[in-house]
Formats: sequence, structure tokens, C-alpha cells
Amino acid sequence: MRGNLEKRLLYAMIVAIVAGGLSGFIWGEAMVSVAWLGELFLTILKMLIVPLVAASIITGVAGLGDVRKLGRMGGISIAYYACTTLIAVSIGLLMANLWQPGAGVDLGAGVAAPKPEIGDVGITDLVLSLVHPNIIDAAASMKLLPIIVFCILLAAALTTLGDKGKPVIVFFEGLNEAMMTIVGWIMIFAPIGVFALIASKLGASGGGEAFFAQLAGLAKYALAVISGLLAHAAVLCVLLVMLARRSVAEYLKHMGTALMTAFSTASSSATLPLTLDGVKAAGVDEKARRFVLPLGATINMDGTALYEAVAVLFIAQAYGIDLSFGQQMLVLVTATMAAIGAAGIPEAGLVTMVIVLEAVGLPLDGIGLILAIDWFLDRCRTTINVFGDSVGAAVVGKMTSSGQYP
Ligand code: ASP
Repeated sequence: MRGNLEKRLLYAMIVAIVAGGLSGFIWGEAMVSVAWLGELFLTILKMLIVPLVAASIITGVAGLGDVRKLGRMGGISIAYYACTTLIAVSIGLLMANLWQPGAGVDLGAGVAAPKPEIGDVGITDLVLSLVHPNIIDAAASMKLLPIIVFCILLAAALTTLGDKGKPVIVFFEGLNEAMMTIVGWIMIFAPIGVFALIASKLGASGGGEAFFAQLAGLAKYALAVISGLLAHAAVLCVLLVMLARRSVAEYLKHMGTALMTAFSTASSSATLPLTLDGVKAAGVDEKARRFVLPLGATINMDGTALYEAVAVLFIAQAYGIDLSFGQQMLVLVTATMAAIGAAGIPEAGLVTMVIVLEAVGLPLDGIGLILAIDWFLDRCRTTINVFGDSVGAAVVGKMTSSGQYP
């Protein structure tokens, strides 16, 4: 029953993406009239994020039973994420050196770059962003990292309380189930939401002709980013087979709806409810799924890291600045940090890229050169971000699984 529904939904999503693309392409700005439907879908997804993250993390950590196991799962998750992010940035550097997308670019062609506002840049700021003085305020402003840290602490404390902690855990267990049930209902609406998001976005950016003009202007750059993302997707597939012992086709079938939603919303946080659902359908270890995915959606952004590396090298090449090997290594480290610091919302990577540009002394105005096409590349990198999170859950699940949940 569920399998049948899943299959039909997958086909409906493919039709929605194609129909949305074609409508936006042909009718251009007229399609902005359906934007509200996309907004509705996105808002409902966002509405679920905070309760879902809290319930998922608390039940995932509490399900481990023993606080000491948390260290192992947390350690493996962070090590896995760090490795895949570094691989992603390396692929980005390779692609930018290979394609040389910025060579000969007309510096006058850029859009005047908005001054990106970025307060927290250093490593200490990154650590400080893990906590927040008011957890309600963090929830209200959707700051997921402090919520995750608070929920890990709460769940760890609850597991040490014995009988007193149990009702609280059972409460969050019920909340988690209820949230996942709502996600199941929302999925029925997903094809309409996806259609509306794609058609209206393409329409708002001027329709087919304008899109091709934008793409043509930055063709080599877009090609470098997209080929890098595809290469990284291939790496993730290898990890899925070798470390998680899973069939790629089977896994993609379950993840299809989430990946297409990621593409249409450009937000890995908003996609999280569907990512959790897809990974559940794929049968990934429950504790890993509940703990690793919310963490991954917040800090693991392979696509963003890769894109930042290509973008920074593109800007350097466009300004005729040769980045030495040492400077490119600095890009490797700072792009990894910038990706961790990026929120799972549209265009967040564009803002945190300032960290990388400043580290290697490049002009921030360079961002203007890549703005025109960023709305599209954002969707591509978000899809890889979500795929990276889901593969991470499968790998960590395999490495730490110890029988049935709970
Ligand atoms: N939009 C991306 C995400 O939500 C972040 C980015 O801008 O790269 O995953």
C-alpha cells in the first residue's frame, strides 16, 4: 500500500517538475500567479520543522538507551560529515581549476552585489552559535543548532532519570509519530507545491529566454558547479554501496520526493520533514535517522561547500588573481566552515561565502558576478545537500546499528 503510494507520488513529482519548468519557461511572468500555492506548501513544511527536530532528536538520543552510545554516534556522524564536506570542496577546487570558468569574464557584466550581512565568521563564533540564552527565542527564530544542542542535553538527562524520565520520553515519542503522520498527509500536496514553486520562480526570473540568457552568460561557471555536484553525487553513491551496503536505485526511489522538494524549495531545512520520511521508508536504523538527519540538515552541506569553492575560484580568475596552492588550501578549510555555518535556507551559501572571500583577500563585489544564476544553482546544491544528509544517515545507521528500535 505504502509502496504503491510512494511510487505514484514519485511519478507525480516528476510530472510536476517537468510541467512546472515548461509552464515557467513558456508563460514566464504569468506563472507568478501560482506562487501562493508554492508558498503555502513551503510554509506548512516550515511549520513542522521545530517540533519535528525537537521530537526527532530527543527520541533518537533517548532511544540509544545509554548516554555513552551518544558519543559514538555523534562522533561517527561528525567525522563522516567532515570527510564528505572536505571531499566536496576538493571536487569543487578540481572542477574550477579544470574548467577555469572565470578566465576572460567581463567584470562589468555583474549585478551590483548587495552588501552581504554576515556577523559570525570566526571559529569561536561558530562554537558560540551552538547555544542560545533563550530556547523559546531560538525556536521562534528557527535557529536549529541551539535547539539541537538543547534537545541532546535534555534527552541525555532524561535517560539518566529512570522512571521519572520515561513519561517525558513517551510524550516526545508521541509527538514524533504525530509529526510524521502530518508529513505523510502533506506529501500528497507535494506535487502541486513543487509545480507552483518551480513555475513561479522560473516565471519571476523572466521565463525561458531570460533563463537561457543568464545561463549562457555564466555557462562555464554553471557547468563547473553542476559537473562538480554530479561527481560528488557519484561519490555519495559509492559510499552508500560500500559503507551502508545499500542499492543506489532502491535508495533513490525512496528519496525521490525529498530530493525533488529540495530542488524546488532550495531549502534543506524546509525539506527535512520529507527527508525524514524518505529515509524512514528506506528502512534506515531509527536511532540514526532521528538523530543524524536533523543534525545533517543543519550542519552538513556538501553541495554548498563545493559551490563555494568553485565560486571563489571563479571570482579570483575573473579578477585575474592567481590563488596559490596554499591559498587554495585556505579555501578548502574556510569553505568547509562556511558550509557548516550556512543555514538550510535559500541562498544562505551566497552569504557565508564572504568568509572564504575574506580569508583569501578577494573583493566581496565579486559576488555580483554570480548573482544572476544563483537562484538556479542554489536548487542544484540543495538537492546534493539533502542527498548527502540522507546517505550520512544510512552510513551512520549501518555503523552503529544494534538491532531493533527502541
Ligand atoms: N539553500 C541551501 C540549503 O538549504 C544552502 C545554500 O544556500 O547553499 O541547503
